[in-house]
Amino acid sequence: MKFAIFGDIHANLEALNAVLEDANNHGCSHFVCMGDIVGYNANPQECLATIRGLDCPVVKGNHDEVVSSDTELIGLNPLAEKSMSWTRDKLNEEDKRYLMNLKLVRQVRDFTIVHATLDSPGGWGYVTSKFHALESFGYQYTPLCFIGHTHVPAFYVKTSTVEELPERVLDVENGKKYLINVGSVGQPRDGDPRASYCIYDIGGQRIVNRRVEYDIKSAQDKIISAGLPDKLAERLSCGN
Ligand code: ZN
Repeated sequence: MKFAIFGDIHANLEALNAVLEDANNHGCSHFVCMGDIVGYNANPQECLATIRGLDCPVVKGNHDEVVSSDTELIGLNPLAEKSMSWTRDKLNEEDKRYLMNLKLVRQVRDFTIVHATLDSPGGWGYVTSKFHALESFGYQYTPLCFIGHTHVPAFYVKTSTVEELPERVLDVENGKKYLINVGSVGQPRDGDPRASYCIYDIGGQRIVNRRVEYDIKSAQDKIISAGLPDKLAERLSCGN
């Protein structure tokens, strides 16, 4: 049984469709969404409808939370603020209620999913080093945990110490714990513009990070014609 585990879609429908097609082509029968369905790009309702149509486990991201609440948009970076207020106008009350009611942490089979970190799921901290990973491992009670939020794929393993693994393919070993950042579907930030997600083969105990090409130009054109900041379109070409 193969799970496609993906998040940080950020309203990029072209990237989401490309990932789902790649997952289907690789025999994934189950889907798991790590949150941040909306924000930044131009197709929030469409991406939300697609994810809801999958009827799969989903956890809440920070953009999902802000967009679905009435909190004032202060203290955010200007690009996030502009896209969040634009997205609030696009979503109906039902969409917002769905996003607001998402849980922060869920367990699926032998793994946990959370958007940011397990040590502070609603604090939206970032795991960008093995030291941050160590904090999250302290609250991880399953062998595997999948996260997102940084938009940079990363594999961490905990034995007596915590290490970041350089490979993008992982064979799960008994007695070890793993923290896997699946990267971002709709706005990668590791210098590779291709959409990122992971396939977890439960039977084979193997996790693979996949990168998928998609129609970036079309996603960019939609951002520009929606009146969203040009920078949000530009960054998709360079993957940062
Ligand atoms: Zn995000």
